Amino acid sequence: MPTLMSLTAREVLDSRGRPTVEVEATSSTGESGRAIVPSGASTGRHEAAELRDGDPKRYGGQGVLKAVGHVRGEIARALIGKDIEDQAGIDAALIALDGTPNKSRLGANAVLGVSLAVAHAAACTRGEPLYLHLNRLWRAKLMPGESAAKTLPMPMINMISGGLHAGQNLDFQDFLIIPVGASTFREALMMATDVYRSLGRVLAKYGEESNLVGDEGGYGPKLRTNTRAVEMIIEAITSAGLAVGKDVAIALDVAATHFYDPGTATYHLASCGEPVQDSSAMLAMLAHWTKQYPIVSIEDGLAEDDWNGWTALTRRIGGEVQLIGDDLFATQTGRIAQGIAKKAANAVLIKVNQVGTLTETFDALLMARRNGYRTIVSARSGETEDTTIADLAVATGAGQIKIGSVARSERLAKYNRLLRIEDRLGSDAPFAGRAALELG
Ligand code: PGA
Ligand code: ZN
Repeated sequence: MPTLMSLTAREVLDSRGRPTVEVEATSSTGESGRAIVPSGASTGRHEAAELRDGDPKRYGGQGVLKAVGHVRGEIARALIGKDIEDQAGIDAALIALDGTPNKSRLGANAVLGVSLAVAHAAACTRGEPLYLHLNRLWRAKLMPGESAAKTLPMPMINMISGGLHAGQNLDFQDFLIIPVGASTFREALMMATDVYRSLGRVLAKYGEESNLVGDEGGYGPKLRTNTRAVEMIIEAITSAGLAVGKDVAIALDVAATHFYDPGTATYHLASCGEPVQDSSAMLAMLAHWTKQYPIVSIEDGLAEDDWNGWTALTRRIGGEVQLIGDDLFATQTGRIAQGIAKKAANAVLIKVNQVGTLTETFDALLMARRNGYRTIVSARSGETEDTTIADLAVATGAGQIKIGSVARSERLAKYNRLLRIEDRLGSDAPFAGRAALELG
C-alpha cells in the first residue's frame, strides 16, 4: 500500500499577484502531486476561512506563511504514513485536526491544498490521469444504480465583468454566455471565443471599448446600466453569426450579497432604474429580465441569507430558469439541505475552497444531484495554473463548469485541460450539452 511519505508547502502567487498556498505531496513509491489553492474576491459569509498572516510588512497582510507552516508542521506530522489512496480518511483527519466548523484554525487554504495534492499524488502513484482517480473516488460514494458516467461539462463563459471583479460601474458581477447549441465541448469553446471577439468589436463601435479586462478575463467597460451589458452581448452573439437563445444563451451572476444591506433588508443598485429595492422588487426585476432577454441562468440573484426571497424567486421562475446558489450554499451540505427544505434555488455552484476538502466537495455534489439540483463546478476570481477543477467536473459528471472568460492563462489552463481530456476520452466522455441545464 503506497503511503504518504512527505508533504511540503510554499507561498506562490495567484492571478491577482496575491500570495496563495501550493502543496506538494509525495508517496512512498516516489511519485508526487501538486495543487495550488484559489481565492475569491466576492466571498460569502458561510465559506470556509482562508488563513492570511495579517503581517502588514509582507504583501499588505495577505501573506500565507502561517498556512504554509501548518502544512509543513502539524498537518505533515498527522498525515505521514497514511494510505495515500484513502482520500476520505485523509480528509476526515484534516477536518478533525483543524477542529473548527470553518477550518479557521489551520486555514481552509492549508487544508484544501493538502486534500488536493494528495489526490494528485495518488493519481500519479497509480499512473493514471487525475480525472480517472477522481472518478474512482466518486464512484465509491454512489449507491447502486447511480450513474458514475464521466462527461465533459457545458461551460458558462464570462463576457463582461462588473461588481467586485472590475472596478467600473456595473452592479452585477458577471454577464456570461452558455453555448447551448454546441454539440461538443470544443465547439462550445469556439463559439465562446467567437462571441468574445465579436463583443470587443461591438463595444468599440459604441465607443465603450476598454482595454481593461476584469479579474476573470471578461471585458470591464463603463456601461450606464446592467441592461446595456446584456444588450451588447446579444448584439455580439448576432454579429458572430449565431442565434441568440438557440445557439448561445445568456447567464448572470448577480452576486447580490454584495449590494445587500441586511440592516434595512434592501438591495442597493447603482446602475438599474430603481436604486434601492426590497427583496420582492428585486425578485420582480429579475423575473422581468428573464421575460425580456434570453436569460437561462441566474446566480446569486438574491443575498446569501435572504431565504424567503430565494424561495419566492424559485417559485416564480425556477421552473424555467436555472437559479444557482453560490454565496447562498457556499458548497456546504448543511446549507444545501436548508435550500432543499425551503425549495430555494435549483442549482448549486461548487467551489472547492468554499468547503476545503475534496471529500466534502463530493458530498455537496452528491446531495445536490440526489435532490434534482443542477451542479456547476466553478473557479474563483483569484486563480492559478492549477487545473484540478477541470478533472473534477469530468470525473463527477457535474454537467456544467464556470471558469471565467476565454482570456488570461489561469482561465485557459483549465479550458485547455478539458480539451486534452476530450481528446483522450473521445466517446468515453460525452459532452453534457444543453441537457445539463434541464431540471433533474
Ligand atoms: P469570487 O467570484 O471568486 O470572487 O467569489 C466568483 C463568483 O462569485 O462566482
Ligand atoms: Zn458567484
